[in-house]
Amino acid sequence: MAADATLMEKLTALCKRRGFIFPGSEIYGGLGGFWDYGPLGVELKRNVKELWWRDMVLNPPTGPDGKEISMQGIDAALIMNPKVWEASGHVGGFRDPMVSCKAEGCKALFRADQVAVMKCLIGSTIVAHIGLEAASKDSPEAVSLIRALNDDPQCTKQERRRGKELRRAIRDAALEHPAVRQVLPTQGQLAEDEIEETFERSLRTEPSGSLLSVEDASTVSCPRCGKFTLTEPREFNLMFETHVGALQAASSKAYLRPETAQGIFVNFSNVLDTMRVKIPFGIGQVGKALRNEINPRNFTFRSREFEQMEIEFFCHPDTAMEWYDFWRKVRYDWYVNLGLKSENLRLRDQEGDELAHYSKCCADIEYLFPFSDEFQELEGVAHRGNYDLTKHHEHSGKDLTYFDDELWQQDAHKYKGDKDAAKKAKREMPYRYLPTVIEPSAGADRATLAFLCEAYTEDEAPNDKGQMDKRVVMKFHPKIAPIKAAFFPLVNKEGMPELAQQLYRDAKQHMHVFLDVKGAIGRRYRRQDEAGTPFCITVDGDTLKDGTVTIRDRDTLEQVRVAKDQVVSWLKERLA
Ligand code: ATP
Repeated sequence: MAADATLMEKLTALCKRRGFIFPGSEIYGGLGGFWDYGPLGVELKRNVKELWWRDMVLNPPTGPDGKEISMQGIDAALIMNPKVWEASGHVGGFRDPMVSCKAEGCKALFRADQVAVMKCLIGSTIVAHIGLEAASKDSPEAVSLIRALNDDPQCTKQERRRGKELRRAIRDAALEHPAVRQVLPTQGQLAEDEIEETFERSLRTEPSGSLLSVEDASTVSCPRCGKFTLTEPREFNLMFETHVGALQAASSKAYLRPETAQGIFVNFSNVLDTMRVKIPFGIGQVGKALRNEINPRNFTFRSREFEQMEIEFFCHPDTAMEWYDFWRKVRYDWYVNLGLKSENLRLRDQEGDELAHYSKCCADIEYLFPFSDEFQELEGVAHRGNYDLTKHHEHSGKDLTYFDDELWQQDAHKYKGDKDAAKKAKREMPYRYLPTVIEPSAGADRATLAFLCEAYTEDEAPNDKGQMDKRVVMKFHPKIAPIKAAFFPLVNKEGMPELAQQLYRDAKQHMHVFLDVKGAIGRRYRRQDEAGTPFCITVDGDTLKDGTVTIRDRDTLEQVRVAKDQVVSWLKERLA
């Protein structure tokens, strides 16, 4: 799927019109990176989170050895002791270097790892780099830019103009560069305009990595304004700061959590001790996370306030790869089973140089959103070694090691009579160790956005006169659909409204349903199609005679008749 800005615009408009997602604090002009979920959106996102909780925490699949796996849930505080963030490396850490443009009137900010660069070479000397925002070397934008810079015969007029401007900017910047002057003919041999011409003739461009791989950021053009005025990458702390208590002093400084994971690590021993669980086991948590993102964009995809659904799965280092493969597959299948079609969803193993220094392997579950030509991360499944527990073990001074008592009971006889050897053995592997962690870390908002994108469909359906009309239909999987069924009386008289209301009352005790008594039936269907309601149930003349209702399927438009007292069980069967 190529980036489809129109589709994204239509989806954003539908989300607002039908009450899925509104810009945050909209009547005051909004606030970048903050969104409010409306009546339909809150149900959709709740379904995503509740299904995650049910499928991962309450009823996870059996493990790789065919045995039940042990999962526990927690709900940790949003604000934690600031020492947590020192231990995790978030404070004073290495997170997200950024660059900004110094040019007046631009002043744009970028995450350095999200600026793709193209090398500009003369011979083998790199004379400059072209910066591209959040684009890779293969994106259509990069391809078009390379064509423009190389003055390719296939260039459009616009590309030719752009190429000329950029070449001139590169030339001006590069001619200042001593290394470049060296490879050009000296001024004694050629006039300045001839040097410039030679320069332009010999210039070639090649895709390169991200800005982080460039030694001198001032040789990279700003992706926004094109000038060579970027600062060096600087550390940027993504955490929102606050103060706890009445005093606004350094000692009262605290942070709003940028991830839910640390709340799990700091509760590792609490869960272990209170639930009497044994390794391997997992802890799951769903909750808000806040990051002062530099460039919030692409609707809710990169927000400043969002929700995470995270698991930390603690296991023995020897079995960690088995658990990694297990969770990688379980998490990918979860999205597929809830309706993300396989060609828009992919599981990508990270390359060695993408991995965090402590991570052995990591796979990203990615989705091809309409706002980009590139797959984007929905979730990361990472093998984190024992990095996090080690850090908290060291910083807190609390012993976070796990003791395998069962194994010790089996082996204790080997140390009978040698107290010192027993004591020593009990402190070490295989009896005592810091567990390895496999972390499937998902975003509830990104998953919800992917489900919205996947569901958006335009097709045709018959109107009240039997003619085909265009319709917009949100084809959500019934399990995540905000409204499961809508009840309509065909006409607002002859006892039909009362009967529809009775059926609605019965059903709403079991699921989220809707009652709509007024308007042309075709229009009522259209509204439910846009809301993504999978089933519409109509009470009509026949209901009064034979006690059956019509149930219309949102996607196939097929209608079946079902006995009115069977409606709830009929729906439940299809939602299971
Ligand atoms: P990205 O590289 O896109 O910033 P990340 O690798 O920093 O993401 P993690 O820290 O691994 O993300 O967080 C786990 C999950 O939380 C992500 O896969 C994503 O679904 C979600 N998430 C992270 N940042 C945001 C955000 N700003 N807005 C919405 N969801 C987010």
